[in-house]
Formats: sequence, structure tokens, C-alpha cells
Amino acid sequence: MNHYDLVVIGAGLGGCSLLSSLEQLGYQGRVALVEAGRGPGGRTASRRSRTDPQWCINHGAPAIRLSESLPAAVDALLDPLRREAILQRIVNDEVAIDANGQIVAVDPTFSSQGDWWTGSPVMASVCEALLARSSNTLASHFGTRVRWLNRTPDHWMLSDESKGWQLQAKRLVLSGNLLAHPRSLAMLKWDDVPLRTAVPEGEDPELDAVLTTLEASASTVRWNLMLDLGDVPLAHPEWPWQIWLTPEAQTRWGVERIVLHRQSDARLGLVVHGLHNGATIDPSTQSALLESEAKRLEAVLPELLMAWPGLRNALESARSMGVMRWGAAQPLHHPVPSHLQWCRQSAVGFCGDWIEGPHFGTGEGAIRSGVALAERLTIDS
Ligand SMILES: Cc1cc2nc3c(=O)[nH]c(=O)nc-3n(C[C@H](O)[C@H](O)[C@H](O)COP(=O)(O)OP(=O)(O)OC[C@H]3O[C@@H](n4cnc5c(N)ncnc54)[C@H](O)[C@@H]3O)c2cc1C
Repeated sequence: MNHYDLVVIGAGLGGCSLLSSLEQLGYQGRVALVEAGRGPGGRTASRRSRTDPQWCINHGAPAIRLSESLPAAVDALLDPLRREAILQRIVNDEVAIDANGQIVAVDPTFSSQGDWWTGSPVMASVCEALLARSSNTLASHFGTRVRWLNRTPDHWMLSDESKGWQLQAKRLVLSGNLLAHPRSLAMLKWDDVPLRTAVPEGEDPELDAVLTTLEASASTVRWNLMLDLGDVPLAHPEWPWQIWLTPEAQTRWGVERIVLHRQSDARLGLVVHGLHNGATIDPSTQSALLESEAKRLEAVLPELLMAWPGLRNALESARSMGVMRWGAAQPLHHPVPSHLQWCRQSAVGFCGDWIEGPHFGTGEGAIRSGVALAERLTIDS
């Protein structure tokens, strides 16, 4: 049995910022990280190809906006990444298209939200770099999805679906809300919300408030089609890195935006961020939906790229690298109040983009929440 002072579930921006901040604050406890994915990144992960070692594309958030003025502790976390050019400011233009496929300016209210920053060489590099700064003694468990939680008076027990793998922790942090949100019931065909089962209603009023908030919350769904456009010439200054669709265009084509991602060799990657039509997603519908979304997005793309003939031509020899479904891409409402980030009585904490704040639902919000929770945990240890 592995015993830890703290176990963090999730290696996205929230969890990795928390771990890196704990290190900066001199936290001394034994810490483990558990992540369902093959590597760090979460919704900023980058998709590698099993058969094509050069290929790696940002299939979730392609970049994040960062406010000009960040809290000192967030700057302290990100400055080394900026200095090492792992976090890079995007200088190319972004544009939008309207419902006629014509180029228009991006909604000006966007630019007041700060500059775009991306990871180099890929978005996942940001989380990888944050983790590399956390303690050498961090025990990382990738490719492990926690399914069962059990709470005794003084510790947490975590196990996977088979219960063949287990960890014990004095304190627990959930940086994704899968184990606390009813969406897992439909999407994964689970018959309970694990955190609710572990701490029955009425035992911890703060935790009850967190779970009640989450129950009312919802997130957007995205179907992201990934394409390899091949060796299109490198110098195309007229091509934007990101093409948004205006609200009318989104309604017409069911697409939020298109993102170009230059690969380390001469190839160009393209990701179409497809909107969801409301169909029920569960294990029985998933594969048919992936197939129909791939066809739908491939079919609308030539129309969307009308204003860029070079890109449109490249579609003819494009290779599909599949569709990624993001079941909870960005939370829409009902943020968890920040004073509930640490529920002391149950020794469980939360971080991620679903915590209250002006940057709710964004990468910046996830980073800020991880830093804030590290401060709480250090004071409370
Ligand atoms: C398609 C898309 C486009 C986006 N575009 C933008 C954008 O332009 N700008 C922006 O700022 N933000 C954008 N976002 C949102 C941004 O990616 C998120 O706000 C941010 O990455 C959230 O980080 P997080 O750590 O809160 O959550 P996550 O990245 O989701 O991390 C949570 C991690 O926990 C793991 N996990 C959850 N449950 C378990 C379990 N039971 N066992 C083990 N592991 C578990 C998950 O696998 C995941 O890796 C986008 C997101 C998507 C999907």
C-alpha cells in the first residue's frame, strides 16, 4: 500500500500549477499525482501519432490568453517558462469569418483579455515543464483513472475500476471534476458520483455546497477534427494562426474555429473545433458520433476556407488524424466558490477552470486556482 500526505488527481494546468507552486512554497509532504491520460496536459494535451513520430498536434486548447497583470505568485510560476521559451507569445494575426465566409475582424472585446500564449514545441510542454519543477520525489501514476473513493475518519483511499491499484492519502485534491459531477453517470455509465458516495450528504456542509454547485453546472462539448495538410510551404504570412467563426457563422456551420499548427517538420496541421448538436453521448453512441462528426466537419471545411485558396487546395491531399471528443471542453456556469476550494473537514480540495474567478473556464483560471490552492494547503499543513 502506498501512503501519501497528499494525492492530486489530474495533470492539467490546474493540477500541475498546484504541484509546482507547492514546491515553490517549500511543501515537505509526500505527494503523488494520478492522471488518466498517458502524459500531462489534460485539455491542453497534445496528440501524438503512434505511427508517425514527428506528428504532435494541439488538439485541445491551442493557446491561452494571459492577463497583462497577473498575481505575483502566478508570475513566479510562469516567468521561468517564458524565459526558457516554453511559453511563447503568439505574434501572428487571428481573424474571423462571417456567415458568408468573408473575412472580418475578431470581436475587439477579445483583445482586451490579454495576449495569446502557446506552449513550445507543443501545448503539453507547459504542463510538462511545470511538473518538471515539482519535487523529484513526486510519485506519478499516468494512464490510471481513479474510479472509487473511500473516506475514513483520517484518510482517503483511491482505487481504479478493478480495485487492483490503490493509494492512501491524508489529503486529496481533485483538479478535474469527473469524480464529483453527475456527467460521469451518463458518459461513463457509472451508477454513482464517487465523491458523493465517499462522503454522504450531511457530513460536511462545505463539501455538500461544492457538490450541489457542480450538479447544476454544465460544460460545452467539442468535436475536434485533426488534419495533416502535408508539406505546405512554410512562408505564408497571409495565413492567420486561428480563424474564428462569428456567432452567425457558428450557427450555419456548427464550427467554433479553425486552428493552424505548424509541425516540427515542414508539415501543417489543422484542427477544426466542431460544436455539439446536443446528441446524447454515452459508451453506446460514442463511436457512431465520432464517425458522423468526422464526415460532417470534413464536408464543411472547404466552404470555411474559401478566403484562403492555398489552404483550401491543401485539403485535397489532407490526411485525417481522427476526431477528439471533449466531453467537458469549457464550463459554462455555476463556478465553485473559491472559499470552498479547500474543504477542511473532509480533507479534500479542488482546483481547475471550474473554480470561481474572472478567468472561469479558461487556462488562466486553471493556473490561478492551482496557485491559490497551494497557498491554502501550505497554510493548513
Ligand atoms: C477544445 C478546447 C479548446 C479550448 N480553448 C481554450 C482557449 O482558447 N483558451 C483558454 O484559455 N482555454 C481554452 N480551453 C480550456 C482550457 O483548456 C482549460 O480551461 C484548462 O486546460 C483546464 O485545465 P484544468 O487543469 O482545470 O483541467 P484539465 O486540463 O481537464 O485537467 C484535469 C485532468 O484530470 C484528469 N482526471 C480527471 N478525472 C480523473 C480521474 N478520475 N482519474 C485520473 N485522472 C483524472 C483528466 O484526465 C485531466 O487530465 C479549451 C479547452 C478545449 C477542450
